[in-house]
Amino acid sequence: MELWFSELHTQNVKFSIKVDRHIVSQKSEFQKIDIFDTPEFGKVLVLDGYLMLTERDEFIYHEMVSHVPLAVNPNIKKVLVIGGGDGGTVNQLVKYKNIETIHMVEIDKLVVDLCREHMPFVAGNLNNERVSLFYEDGLKFVRQTKDKYDLIIVDSTDPFGPGEGLFTKEFYGNCYKALADDGIFVNQHESIFYAEYATAMKNAHSKIKSFFPVALCYQAHIPTYPSGHWLFGFASKKFEPCKDIQPAEWQNFGIKTKYYNPTLHLGAFALPQYVRDALRS
Ligand code: SAM
Repeated sequence: MELWFSELHTQNVKFSIKVDRHIVSQKSEFQKIDIFDTPEFGKVLVLDGYLMLTERDEFIYHEMVSHVPLAVNPNIKKVLVIGGGDGGTVNQLVKYKNIETIHMVEIDKLVVDLCREHMPFVAGNLNNERVSLFYEDGLKFVRQTKDKYDLIIVDSTDPFGPGEGLFTKEFYGNCYKALADDGIFVNQHESIFYAEYATAMKNAHSKIKSFFPVALCYQAHIPTYPSGHWLFGFASKKFEPCKDIQPAEWQNFGIKTKYYNPTLHLGAFALPQYVRDALRS
């Protein structure tokens, strides 16, 4: 008997992955957490029925949320990651020896515990001595933090359930306040091809733009995400991501990547016309 994991990308589009083994299924106070082992994508993390990451293509997302801001400001020292419970973003950030402090605020400790146990390929660096984990709501954390960060990465679920508060004006405004004068804000910015995701993307973009003088989107091809075309937000008080990129300084880090490079960085901000029109509307 064949076993498949299916995710509804819309009411009319289903994305299915063949499953070898359903490794774990647990419910936390926030969400249902499933981890599968699959022949095509390796281990797969699913929260409330939504695919979060796969062993085979997680590098795309995690390289793009990390290397884009670090190539613009190689002097980043203090980073706040909101969400990111699988550890994939931290896994990229620890490659930068100049980063001194990483605070990761994840609402659901069970996600971290299960990823540490079953997905060491992303969660393996959460014990790094520069990383501090805070198991709380990112919305509340930024409301009260007195810290100033050089970079905030919002590596969240979609704008419903526990993630809903991470797409609000209050949250973006408090992130703006928690950033240093040359701070950079990067977020998981949904997608545009399917209406439901497009609405979330446009709402988030207009709120971010109301705080940050620079507020742009960039793209990546992520095979297991709805439509395969995924967007990220880049907002900053000072830096323009294509004008201010420092490719030579970034190359000097000597970080081996599978997806990101400084040429692709520029292309990632060259959005299709229908995306540009949607962001302007
Ligand atoms: N990094 C993965 C990817 O490739 O897209 C997915 C993101 S990660 C699994 C999303 C995390 O955001 C989850 O672990 C979820 O528990 C966390 N999260 C959702 N709402 C949150 C909130 N309000 N505060 C902190 N973390 C939150």
